[in-house]
Amino acid sequence: MYLIENYARLPVRFVKGKGVYLYDEKGKRYLDFIAGIGVVSLGHADEGLARVITRQAQELLHVSNLYENPWQEELAKKLSDRFWTKARAFFCNSGTEANETAIKLARKYWREEGQNRYRIITFRKGFHGRTYGSLSATAQEKLHKGFEPMLEGFDYAEFNDIRSVEKLITSETAGIMLETIQGEGGVNEADPDFLEGIQKICEREGLLLIVDEVQTGIGRTGRFYSYEWFNLKPDIITLAKGLGGGVPVGCVLAREEVAKAFKPGDHGSTFGGNPLACKSASYVVDRVANLLPQVLEVGKVFKEGLRELHAGKVKGRGLMLGLEIEKECKEIVLKALKEGLLINCTASRVLRFLPPLIVQKEHVEEALRILQKILYP
Ligand SMILES: *Cc1c(COP(=O)(O)O)cnc(C)c1O
Repeated sequence: MYLIENYARLPVRFVKGKGVYLYDEKGKRYLDFIAGIGVVSLGHADEGLARVITRQAQELLHVSNLYENPWQEELAKKLSDRFWTKARAFFCNSGTEANETAIKLARKYWREEGQNRYRIITFRKGFHGRTYGSLSATAQEKLHKGFEPMLEGFDYAEFNDIRSVEKLITSETAGIMLETIQGEGGVNEADPDFLEGIQKICEREGLLLIVDEVQTGIGRTGRFYSYEWFNLKPDIITLAKGLGGGVPVGCVLAREEVAKAFKPGDHGSTFGGNPLACKSASYVVDRVANLLPQVLEVGKVFKEGLRELHAGKVKGRGLMLGLEIEKECKEIVLKALKEGLLINCTASRVLRFLPPLIVQKEHVEEALRILQKILYP
């Protein structure tokens, strides 16, 4: 054993994939309803994406951020065009890096304004990543344990409780950071009223609104960005997971005025936004833009089907769904694996479903049949 044992891995080895299916070394087929945790948005071995990757690899994989980068420009424009106002982008390699960047940018914005605002309000059961800034922003003590002290400057409020937010605001508060659906925290949906309350507080107090769209973004909920479901005008959003369709890429998108707080030398990444990552993400963004009606339609069928199982509370939007059951769901995940269905368990009792965005009704029906069999043996 040469690997650090920080993961509890399931006993299966995948050797190839196609569309919504994965295959193990014995040739057994699995319906993939976790999609690399919301990463392979176009499914496995998508021919178009493979072609883009191959061509770019044959042409140019990497140039440093020391030089001009038209691939980043192209992708940034596409992401900005879908944002509610003109935005600028910074590219990195993961969700946690995107959130680190957002935290630094929020602090720098206020320093440029001549104010000592550096504290960020985040929410219980939220998840923002594993590196120190984003881990400190993650209000889950069980993830901090053994790694303290956390970074200074985060205040934790209760999700869907606007008064708990009001109480934490001081003259040092820089912004509020949240997920519209808490993914790792158990597919917990924010109430529209709560989010509109947050927007109002941000306007009233002049705070920055940071929406972590790492899991919810790029079509996952049926809108390109999940904040579009609500009356929200975020100052900063962060993206990763589904953005590259499997190629690692993260992004911070910030309203132009906020983005300008970063000056040359303030932040950087060696790999971030290389031609391979940007070309891949550009391709994924174009494809996902055309998949949104299908995500909504198939998501609706799936949600309805989950409800009809009568196994617990059904949560989420689009193709980011959860089923909260009575008992620990680890065992269900193992049983599903045996039956050829890949799902995941989060917050100990929530079965989480994040199928590729190309999933069709017949795949959903197949998954529901397997779930029915496992839940009611
Ligand atoms: C997965 C996730 C992250 C962390 O992304 P990594 O790429 O694993 O660093 C951050 N925020 C949210 C909402 C996530 O779901």
